[in-house]
Amino acid sequence: MNSVEAIKKPTFEQQNEPENLNPFEIAQSQFMNAAKKLNLEPWLIEILINPQRSFTFKFPVKMDDGSIKIFTGYRVQHNNTRGPYKGGLRYSMQVNLDEVKALASWMTWKTAVANVPYGGAKGGVMCDPRTLSQNELERITRRFAYELDGIIGPETDIPAPDVGTNAQVMAWIVDTCSMDHKCNMLGVVTGKPIYLGGSEGRAEATGRGVMITAMEAIKELHLKPKDLTAVVQGYGNVGSNAARLLSEKGVKIIGISDVSTALYNTDGLDLEDVDSYLETHKVLKDYPNAEHSPRDLVLEMKCDILVPAALENQITSENAENIQAKMIVEGANGPTTPMADEILKSKGVFIVPDILANAGGVVVSYFEWLQNIQREKWTYEEVVSKLEKTMIPAYRDVSQMAKKKKVDMRTAAYMIAIERVAKAVKTRGIYP
Ligand code: NAD
Repeated sequence: MNSVEAIKKPTFEQQNEPENLNPFEIAQSQFMNAAKKLNLEPWLIEILINPQRSFTFKFPVKMDDGSIKIFTGYRVQHNNTRGPYKGGLRYSMQVNLDEVKALASWMTWKTAVANVPYGGAKGGVMCDPRTLSQNELERITRRFAYELDGIIGPETDIPAPDVGTNAQVMAWIVDTCSMDHKCNMLGVVTGKPIYLGGSEGRAEATGRGVMITAMEAIKELHLKPKDLTAVVQGYGNVGSNAARLLSEKGVKIIGISDVSTALYNTDGLDLEDVDSYLETHKVLKDYPNAEHSPRDLVLEMKCDILVPAALENQITSENAENIQAKMIVEGANGPTTPMADEILKSKGVFIVPDILANAGGVVVSYFEWLQNIQREKWTYEEVVSKLEKTMIPAYRDVSQMAKKKKVDMRTAAYMIAIERVAKAVKTRGIYP
């Protein structure tokens, strides 16, 4: 059986079976749902539903106590028809090949929806950065960068930060590749520190994209930001910036969560106070100036806008019925399962899908890469303005497609993305 036949039956149709939470199979079923409406030729489906290349690495690293530990790393290159492969590196104990394959394919569709000239890739190392020293993290990163060298490069495949990685990790990758090649390779990754070839506005870019698309949805639904409340699951890079920027637009943030707990205050949380608490305490546990609730209940709080910004498979058939938000803006990749999607649709919840809502990060990564290649430095204001000029048309394209084809926003986003990539594949033709 080939892979297209294997997923003929989308997971959301398997009503009596336990919900399929395999992220790659979910990504494939989302793809098929849209591809069916585009009448793609079978060979195009076969090529686009699978990654072009997947790498698994086993590599040894010296730990601080003198022992040697073997780590597993992955890089999956899903598609590079429209431009170099692009996608983050995740450090987490949950990293596995199917997760990376899903995340890589979502990158292909995300760069196509945002209409930036990249393909899609993703990578990761199975490790828990919270239990590693800085020296251990550096050695893991440098050895992983050495393994990746040749597979990644400024014109071939450009990683960026994701869960568990940051600008420092990117700087170590730049240095390792630059040493290997005996030249400066700033363009090999994006999401670098600003003083080391990074872009103004990159750190907050994904959260800003979430805010921009949420504001477009608010306008479309004829709502007013100051009448609205929002809850954010996952107060990390994406979630904290989305919360801050939404609150600057007048939306009241009444709930947030991280790995340790959930906080709520129906009068609105003081985010500056939360941020200064996190500077010293790292996690929200024991934060004194708000009520605490069981972590996962944050998704079910009464609010207008829910921003899942933690990990995949958070809104499932188990809790979708209890979601009270009217609108979901997906900061995380893959937070909603296909079964949950169906339930939310029947409840009339408006969803701005991940491949649109969280594309702000890769858009500013593209700006960073352009600045590196052109030896330019753009101001923060330029970056913000160019990001708006990319995200707003992307939102409007998806919204128009949804109306024209009478489909939900996720299907519309996939249809636009798949059409763009499929057209590029067909126009390039088959080599040799
Ligand atoms: P991060 O590591 O900065 O933050 C993740 C946050 O989620 C942390 O606060 C963590 O404590 C919290 N968390 C983890 N498990 C949780 C749970 N079960 N419940 C509540 N909170 C939980 O990561 P990030 O970069 O903000 O990424 C978050 C999501 O956004 C991921 O799905 C990532 O792939 C996606 N994303 C990130 C970017 C980016 O530019 N960083 C771009 C696009 C998409």
